[in-house]
Amino acid sequence: MATIAWIGLGHMGTPMSAHLVAAGHTVKGFDLSEHACAEAAQQGVTIAATMADAVRGAEAVFTSLPMPEHVRAVYDGDGGVWALADHGALLLDTSTVDVETSRWCHEGSKRAGFAFVDAPISGGTVGAEAGTLTFMLGGEDAHVARAEAYVAAMAGSTIRCGGAGNGIAAKLVNNMMLMIDVLAVAEGSQLAARLGLDAKTFWDVANVSSAASWPQQKWYPVPGVVASAAANHNFDASFSGTLAKKDVSLAVQAGEAAGVQLPAAALVLSQLARLVDEGLGEKDCTLITKYTVPEGQLAGYDPQR
Ligand code: NAD
Repeated sequence: MATIAWIGLGHMGTPMSAHLVAAGHTVKGFDLSEHACAEAAQQGVTIAATMADAVRGAEAVFTSLPMPEHVRAVYDGDGGVWALADHGALLLDTSTVDVETSRWCHEGSKRAGFAFVDAPISGGTVGAEAGTLTFMLGGEDAHVARAEAYVAAMAGSTIRCGGAGNGIAAKLVNNMMLMIDVLAVAEGSQLAARLGLDAKTFWDVANVSSAASWPQQKWYPVPGVVASAAANHNFDASFSGTLAKKDVSLAVQAGEAAGVQLPAAALVLSQLARLVDEGLGEKDCTLITKYTVPEGQLAGYDPQR
């Protein structure tokens, strides 16, 4: 069993590192938030006082951080992973970042003498808690093979996506497609209702027809149709508007760099930005459905609650 460092013990990092503990590894965790450290300690993670203490002696170093700038700050500089980790350690970033930041991590790690694998995840906090996340791995074959052994305890599926940055590229494209599908379901669900269709009857049609999609099946934004939908709980988040906006904006940025036109992604991004601007970023991303109907008329949403 290995000694593993985990930097960033948030909504994803704590349940993910808990699976490594359960698999018999020693996990040394570090986070700037005392609350996050206390939660992780309850799961058997050994809390380190400094990042240096966390990474010293670790065979693998995982990061699970909010934004690309946090990832860059944690790797770089005198107090960063490259300066502090033991040589020979495998570095894995599970954060959702832009492709450029991921490639920067690969190049910097190589220069500093480390193996790095981009290892973004899909499945949300439910998948993190259940240990059923999808891992999308990018990097050199030998490094990815090493990574697979560590992520196994947290994963339902692990997919080798190719070279440096390909894991994050797959993650961003997947989430961009998901959010375009969310917009389709937002508009379709409300049009069906206004045309007089019973919501469950139309859902049954779509479910076995050409409009079937993941958000149609799991997140249908009408109360009482699908048990797992946020619409049943006043649109409290299972995947927040803020995180969805982050992921789509990184995909749009990648499209601009690659010279690919993404008008549908730009449209859903503008709606997610509007949600965040209204102070509703911590609500579920499917709350963009409210922009399809007159203000105050979305079934299942009470702004006062
Ligand atoms: P989070 O904000 O809950 O956790 C991030 C943690 O990093 C926080 O506890 C914060 O204190 C800590 N942190 C920030 N800077 C730090 C530093 N310099 N040193 C140590 N700790 C630091 O975020 P999360 O929901 O756990 O997401 C983590 C990453 O996973 C993000 O990149 C997110 O986009 C991605 N992701 C999240 C989900 C999800 O459903 N939450 C799903 C897939 C991917």
